[in-house]
Amino acid sequence: MVDVVLDAQHLTKVYGARRGGEPVRALNDVSVSLERGRTLGIVGESGCGKSTLARLLVGLETPTSGDLRIDSRQIEAGGRGAARALARRIQLVFQDPFSSLDPRMTVEKVLHEVLTVHSLHEGARGARVSELLAMVGLSARFATRYPHELSGGQAQRVAIARALAVEPEIVVLDEPTSALDVSVRAEIINLLVRIQDELRLSYVFISHDLSMVRHISDDIAVMYLGRVVEQGRYDQVFVTPLHPYTVALADAIPVPDPRHERSRAAAGVASVALRTEAVAQGCAYAPRCALVQDRCRGAVPALSEKSEGHRVACFVALDESR
Ligand code: ADP
Ligand code: MG
Repeated sequence: MVDVVLDAQHLTKVYGARRGGEPVRALNDVSVSLERGRTLGIVGESGCGKSTLARLLVGLETPTSGDLRIDSRQIEAGGRGAARALARRIQLVFQDPFSSLDPRMTVEKVLHEVLTVHSLHEGARGARVSELLAMVGLSARFATRYPHELSGGQAQRVAIARALAVEPEIVVLDEPTSALDVSVRAEIINLLVRIQDELRLSYVFISHDLSMVRHISDDIAVMYLGRVVEQGRYDQVFVTPLHPYTVALADAIPVPDPRHERSRAAAGVASVALRTEAVAQGCAYAPRCALVQDRCRGAVPALSEKSEGHRVACFVALDESR
C-alpha cells in the first residue's frame, strides 16, 4: 500500500499586486504527494513557483486555496502553537545557508536555541549538539564558530543539522546546493542521502536543474509558470519525458538523444510574464514550444494520465500514441 506522508491538493497562491502591477499567480492548482521514506524532486526554471510551493508545504505561508495534509491529517492555518507543532514534523532548508543563519550566533548557539524552543533534550543539550554536528559530518570544534568562519558547504551542513534538530519526518530542500561551489555539491547530496537512510526521512528536493534532482529523486514533478506540467516516477519523467518542456530540460543535460533534437531550441530561457490573464488564455508553454498547435493557445491542457502514474499537461503529448 502506498504510504503518503505529505499530500498537497490544488494549491494556489496569488500574491497581491506590487506597485501598480497585476496580481501574480505564483502557484496554480498544484497537487503533489510524497511517499514516506522517498524523495520527490521538483524541477523548473527560476520564477516558476518552486520556493512558493516550499513555503506553503512547510506552513511559512498559507495558500490562497487548496488543501495540505500530513499523515492524512489536514493542516490548519493557525496560531504559533500550530506552527510549532508543524515545524516538528516538516522542516525547510534554504538555498543560501548564510542568509538563514544569524551572523551573531555560534553554531552551538544556533542548535541550542532550536532545542530550547522545542523543549528537546533538556539537560543533555550539549551532547545533542555534538551528535547533530557528527550527523552532518562536522567535528565538535565547529561548535564555537560563527557563520563567517564557515565555508558555504559547512554552513549548509549547519543549516541541515538545525533542520534535523527537531527530528522531523519530512525535510523540504529548496535548492540546497545551488549557492555552493560545484566541488562541494556532490558531498552535500551524498550527505543528504545518507541521513535520509539513517533517519528514514522523506524529502522534497527542489532544483532548477534536472541533472541535480535525478541523483536523488524517486518521483519527479516538473513545474512551468506556476503549474505542474509533468509528473511521475523518476524513470518515467527522466527517461521517457512527455512534455516538450521536460524534453528541453533533459536535453540541456548532455546525454545524446537524436529523437529529441527538434525541441532543443525551446530550451533557451524566455521570460514569459506570469500574469493571471496571459496564463489563463492557453498553455503557458505555447510561446516557446516547438510543437505548438492552434488548440494550445485556446485552452490550458489539464494534467492527465498518459500511462500509470505518469501525468502530463500537453495536448500533443497526450494525443501521440506510444
Ligand atoms: P522559484 O523559486 O521557482 O524561482 P518563486 O516561488 O520564488 O519561484 O516565485 C514565483 C513567482 O512569484 C515569481 O514571479 C515571483 O516574482 C513571485 N513572487 C514570489 N514571492 C512573492 C511575493 N512575496 N510577492 C509577490 N510576488 C512574489
Ligand atoms: Mg526559489
